[in-house]
Amino acid sequence: MLNPFAIGMPSSYLFSEIARRVASFQENHGADGPRVIRMGIGDVTRPLPRACVEAMKSAADEQLSAATFRGYPPDGGYDFLRNAIAGHEYRQRGVDIPPDDIFISDGAKSDSANIQELFDNACVVGVTDPVYPVYVDSNAWAGRLGNYTDGKWDKLVTFPCSRDNDYVASPPDKHVDLIYLCFPNNPTGIAATAKQLREWVDYANRHGAVIVYDAAYRAYITDPGIPRTIYEIDGAKTCAIEICSFSKTAGFTGTRCSWTVVPRELYRDGASLRALWSRRQATKFNGAPYIVQRGAEAVYSPEGQADCAATIAYYSRNARKIRQTLEDAGIEATGGVNAPYVWMRCPDNMDSWTFFDFLLKEARVVGTPGSGFGRRGEGYFRLTAFGSHEDTDEAMDRVRSLPRKL
Ligand code: PLP
Repeated sequence: MLNPFAIGMPSSYLFSEIARRVASFQENHGADGPRVIRMGIGDVTRPLPRACVEAMKSAADEQLSAATFRGYPPDGGYDFLRNAIAGHEYRQRGVDIPPDDIFISDGAKSDSANIQELFDNACVVGVTDPVYPVYVDSNAWAGRLGNYTDGKWDKLVTFPCSRDNDYVASPPDKHVDLIYLCFPNNPTGIAATAKQLREWVDYANRHGAVIVYDAAYRAYITDPGIPRTIYEIDGAKTCAIEICSFSKTAGFTGTRCSWTVVPRELYRDGASLRALWSRRQATKFNGAPYIVQRGAEAVYSPEGQADCAATIAYYSRNARKIRQTLEDAGIEATGGVNAPYVWMRCPDNMDSWTFFDFLLKEARVVGTPGSGFGRRGEGYFRLTAFGSHEDTDEAMDRVRSLPRKL
């Protein structure tokens, strides 16, 4: 009577196991040494832009009067926000996305988990390894990945990302129907070049595949040659859906707002994916709150843009510092340049959890074991740049003394 694939899901123990180990460490050693610094979770710490808060306050005030009160929002989002996104995120980059191909939502996590509902259960799904786990789990839940045995889903195709391919896989030799790509990548912190993305777009158009492109971290790209949207690549509109978020750009992790582009040019099996997504959202989603959409719109005011740029610069400085510290210590590390994540090889061939315990014990720094992001993540570790400068500097001072202890 229950969904057997839901029952068969392996427990998602990564962050609970981290919390358990940290709690147990603090219970045993908390009093006798420096405090634990957390560089594990992907949540932000800097406040919202003032312009966003002011916009939300006045949108809240509007709810006091019948003349300005808002009820259910339109399924796809308010035009004011769709227009602002089309202008600032796309037209300014020379990409024409009609506002009504942009669907406002309450988070990139939910959209990236829900988008698979448009696809046949027989679809072959492919993901990079390591990977943000939502793409895999949502397809497993729907029964598309078969059984989970020996740490693997038997029907899932993985594209290994390692130092050998600079952490950006090339398209596979075999056929895949539904492909998830995320750039700049969580967890590796790598941004894909136009040439690399073109290979995937060409593959998808050739195979009739669809790419779900998660660009949640695009605001961290500083290199002008790196695409910020997959639609900078010719042919992407006939094969790619793009998911973006205000979470890491404007601090909306708690406020919740995102968007998904489903281009009107994207058809499979004679059907418009845009029409299907619109139908899906109308059926299962009642829209992101008006107040929040007004807050997101203010991201594009001059003050909002200045505050977002300052916050991203703040985190990016941490990212550079983490990467530099690791490299100076002779530890192999990637990311941290066009992304808020640094991906490091665990020293001395330690596995991810052994290094987690080592770093906690020796430096009192908490990171995320790479094995939590897939089999290819084993032996790696993720550090995030979302902390304060003070915490990041102190953590890196502690890390600097580690190699001597190895
Ligand atoms: N996509 C990626 C790759 C992420 O790393 C995250 C959050 O960590 C999300 C999506 C979630 O974004 P949102 O807060 O909009 O749900």
